[in-house]
Amino acid sequence: MKVALIGVGQAGGNVTERLARFDANMGYGAVQGALAVNSAETDLQSLEFVDTQLIGADRVNGHGVGADNELGTEVMQSDIQQILDGLDGRVTSEAEAIFVVAGLGGGTGSGGAPVLVHHLQQIYDIPVYALGVLPGRNEGALYQANAGRSLKTLLREADSTLLIDNDAWHEQGESVEGAFETINEKIAKRVGLLFASGEAVEGVGESVVDSSEVINTLRAGGVAALGYATEIASEDSSENITTAMTVSRQALLTGTSLPEATTADSALLVVAGRPDAIPRKGVEKARHWLEDETGSMQVRGGDFPLDSDRLGALVLLGGAERSDRVQAFMDRAREATDEAESESTDHADRLTDDRLENLF
Ligand code: GDP
Repeated sequence: MKVALIGVGQAGGNVTERLARFDANMGYGAVQGALAVNSAETDLQSLEFVDTQLIGADRVNGHGVGADNELGTEVMQSDIQQILDGLDGRVTSEAEAIFVVAGLGGGTGSGGAPVLVHHLQQIYDIPVYALGVLPGRNEGALYQANAGRSLKTLLREADSTLLIDNDAWHEQGESVEGAFETINEKIAKRVGLLFASGEAVEGVGESVVDSSEVINTLRAGGVAALGYATEIASEDSSENITTAMTVSRQALLTGTSLPEATTADSALLVVAGRPDAIPRKGVEKARHWLEDETGSMQVRGGDFPLDSDRLGALVLLGGAERSDRVQAFMDRAREATDEAESESTDHADRLTDDRLENLF
């Protein structure tokens, strides 16, 4: 799937940079253009693989908006035309989708990404997706509250919002901050492989996954999640039947970007490996298992031929917002908003029924 990427804020820029680098190193050519937008100048200076654009200079003078996501929304609104003009030629006619990438707990990305998605939707006919990083459980109440409002607004604006929980892909015992490098690398590999599905393939066969499968899976809208797992493959494909099942189970149950998200409206199973090592029977079994597990009647599938001694499974879920994990996160965000507001002396504020307001 050929994509244009726009990262907003620190996490957004870092993840976009990693994705662009992974795609270039692997030679997939799926990432057609990549831009990082931020109100903090120093965050942009560390990026090498993407074009950069500073916003809000007249308001915050390149110093960022802190964790004030309402200010993040405002600076994006003020400078939106400049960004859209800058995208001319970057979102090529080849692009099949746009991904707006952001950490949802901070300020610039949290507040700015939903505004950007809104405007891109008015201009482009291709789907506009969000790739959102959720704060880990141990990040403060403000981050949870910010992420709740940002997610709520993104769900309204984006065609689908692929969520990565910052607790999902870091090593045990590692602090979230210390783990950014590891997490970003994992995001780049998994999301990068999803983009590359159907791109870097010579001699396309019938069962090879195509970018339309990704787009159709995400058509369910709402929240999307991505899982990944690999195992050493055997030379003989019949011996890999069990392996195909094992990696598919691991991808959904333990290797996912949104732990415990298993209920979904749609799913896509991409099996990656050497074509002669991919077991047809195993892939079919895994697809049936995925149907049972997700409760979805729309489970698509396809191969991703790769020269590797491993067999991998990439599982994309669409419409996964009914899962316990997303509900638990929204509860956490609402609680955090309540906490912040109980310190406020504005009684009208405290009595507002729906605490998670849209950002705009
Ligand atoms: P912004 O620059 O104001 O948009 O704020 P950040 O992008 O720093 O957003 C803060 C949230 O993003 C927090 O939940 C951080 O844990 C997370 N975050 C910041 N940088 C990174 C990063 O490089 N990778 C990941 N995975 N998360 C990050």
